[in-house]
Amino acid sequence: MPLNTIRSHARSLRARLMLWNAGAVAATGLLVLLAVRTGVQKRLISEMDEVLREDLKEITLHFEGNQAYNWTTFTEELDRKAEGHELLRWFVQFYDDQDQPGWSSNNTPKLPPPTAEEKQRKSFTVKDYRLSYGDLTPPVKEGAYVVVGCQDYVSRDMATIDLLVFFTGLIVLLISPLVGHLLTGRVIRPLAQMIQTTSRLHPGEVSERLPIRGTGDELDSLAHTINGLLDRISTYLRQEHDFLANAAHDLRTPLAAIRSSVEVALGVERSDEEYREILGLVIEQCSSLQTLVNQLLLLAETDADRLQPDIEPVQLDQVVSQVVAMFEGVADDHGIELRMAELEPLSVPGNRHHLRQVVSNLLDNAIKFTAARGGSEPCDPGDTSHQGCIQIALVRDEPAGVARLRVQDNGIGISPEDQPQIFDRFFRADKARPRDGVAGGTGLGLSICKAIVESHGGEITVESKPGQGATFVVSLPLYSSQFNGERAESDEQVLDLP
Ligand code: ADP
Repeated sequence: MPLNTIRSHARSLRARLMLWNAGAVAATGLLVLLAVRTGVQKRLISEMDEVLREDLKEITLHFEGNQAYNWTTFTEELDRKAEGHELLRWFVQFYDDQDQPGWSSNNTPKLPPPTAEEKQRKSFTVKDYRLSYGDLTPPVKEGAYVVVGCQDYVSRDMATIDLLVFFTGLIVLLISPLVGHLLTGRVIRPLAQMIQTTSRLHPGEVSERLPIRGTGDELDSLAHTINGLLDRISTYLRQEHDFLANAAHDLRTPLAAIRSSVEVALGVERSDEEYREILGLVIEQCSSLQTLVNQLLLLAETDADRLQPDIEPVQLDQVVSQVVAMFEGVADDHGIELRMAELEPLSVPGNRHHLRQVVSNLLDNAIKFTAARGGSEPCDPGDTSHQGCIQIALVRDEPAGVARLRVQDNGIGISPEDQPQIFDRFFRADKARPRDGVAGGTGLGLSICKAIVESHGGEITVESKPGQGATFVVSLPLYSSQFNGERAESDEQVLDLP
């Protein structure tokens, strides 16, 4: 196997999981075995010590209780005990008060007398022997003592246990990577499938989705998340595609009109009057083009998240009054009355030009979709029997901390099915209207409003019933002292929108 393949295998998730698993199993196994070993060792030693201490007690009691003891009988008894004792190579060794060894049973090994520290501990190990120490009481001379002992079989047994621990550990160490390899293989199999599926995806083909196994585990939720992301990407790509197609179509219309006007002009010799008329048409189409290009640029800025409003206080009431005044003439031409209650002064943080654009688009639509007034009754936008009324109101909603702008008309209204789409780019409810840039509508106005309002931290909503007019409400956060001192340098490029 080439070195690179080995390296990439070693770096793989499977190899790492396998190693972690082996490490964790080995460490846990080792700890458990060590704990068991220590526990067993302590238990065996304490059992042996208990037996030795019992024997010691028996010997010392013999002196205490039996004043006229028979030494010979006693030592014979001890010798017999040494031969038949359950503990291996059991023995007794007496010492006088000078630490000089006295009588000892058969099989007593040659051991040094216990040190002061060993005497203190009472039970201790010397060489291969476990010993227990006890003082003798009168009538034996004071300071004399006795030691009973046996071969320390625990150390021997522990050596066997250690060997067992070693081989078990070795087997665990060898098997755990293999088990880890198999287990991690099962775990990462779905991951490998995900990688395969996602590697087949590309911008032109995002219809495939990752399989959901239905186990409800983390890999399933990862697949869900990636599928959600793919859904959003494909929606975005479709919208982008539609946007481009619509933009190209809408740019082509005025361009074609300009071209045909120029061709007409060049076709035959014409009078100055005719040339002027044709050039007027060309200028009209050029301004349509300019409007459309500006709108597209603004939307492109929104997409790139560059539509940051200046954090400067904008007197919204002034902006609204100026726009209403600007539209008064147009509304008049259409036989529509604009009604506006006196506006209370209020300011919002934002970009004056963009906010003016929002108010203009809403008023432009309200005029476009409202029929001329009939009769001379006073204008009432709430009364649908009197057409041609548009009411503009601006209120401060102090508890919510927002300014609300309402533009209410009593025009054709919007059907419930169309309402969710009117803020989409290029959407026009009335497809029959000619698509000629400004006059017929581009279907971009409300999407621009939404983008601007949202970039100002606000929201735009609509309420409407077909044939009963439409009411658009724009809510924008009020300017508060938190913005003081945070005034952004006004270096943003301001688009010259109509
Ligand atoms: P347009 O350039 O077509 O006006 P907009 O984005 O401004 O594009 O509006 C999208 C669509 O929403 C319009 O084509 C129209 O169908 C509907 N609409 C917007 N405002 C109103 C309104 N005030 N009354 C009725 N329909 C409206």
